[in-house]
Amino acid sequence: MEALLFDLDGVLYQGDRVIDGAVQTLRWCERRSIPHRFITNTSSKPRRALVERLSGLGLSVSPEQIIAPPIAACDYLASRGATPTALFVRDATREDFRGLECLGDTAERGARSVVIGDIGEAWDFATLNRAFRLLMAEPRPILIALGMSRYAQGDTGLVLDVAPFIKALEHAAGCEAVVMGKPAQSFFEAALRELGTAAADTAMIGDDIRGDVGAAQTAGLTGILVRTGKFRPPDLDGAVRPDAILDSVADLPRWWENHHS
Ligand SMILES: [Mg+2]
Repeated sequence: MEALLFDLDGVLYQGDRVIDGAVQTLRWCERRSIPHRFITNTSSKPRRALVERLSGLGLSVSPEQIIAPPIAACDYLASRGATPTALFVRDATREDFRGLECLGDTAERGARSVVIGDIGEAWDFATLNRAFRLLMAEPRPILIALGMSRYAQGDTGLVLDVAPFIKALEHAAGCEAVVMGKPAQSFFEAALRELGTAAADTAMIGDDIRGDVGAAQTAGLTGILVRTGKFRPPDLDGAVRPDAILDSVADLPRWWENHHS
């Protein structure tokens, strides 16, 4: 094993709380000069805010180390000229789409792309239906999913993430979304290109049995599950068999050193 990919939410922090041992584990990673990146499906915040949040928790990370769906989607749409784009993201996240031509917030036609992110409780019938009408307008725009996480760990329990809303729109409009985020293999491949390592030499550590562990394994990486964040014991009863299961990210250095001795 040569390199590491860290999920953020549920692995390094949960809500406003840093996970015990996360700071020490990242320091160990730096000290051992282990190449690493952070690969997240978070679309509720721009990358700049993720860096600030991590910094506030005592975790020093540069923006370039974070691989996040909004940045990937912006690059993808810009390179294909698939604009104007209709953004269904929180206001804060719009800064990651700066420079892209965006459609007005009430338009129901004219989009070349429709981008769906985590807008949480802002979802209502009118909003979902506007996305549907945009997708039905000719010529048909492409639907972009900012990750396909099914659910997340919220402050009061599990909450719906992006995937269920994408599924509803795909079903109604008869289209298939392009996924910018986990579990898309292309997202892991982009991370490996930045690391400069092969999949077989890289481990992914996450709290999502499917989106982090299963998807990483499908891409050829080692998949490590932590029992923090959205982890629930029944996760281990499904088809995905993690290569390692750790109580938390605090146990990563010991696991790693055991595999390198
Ligand atoms: Mg997570």
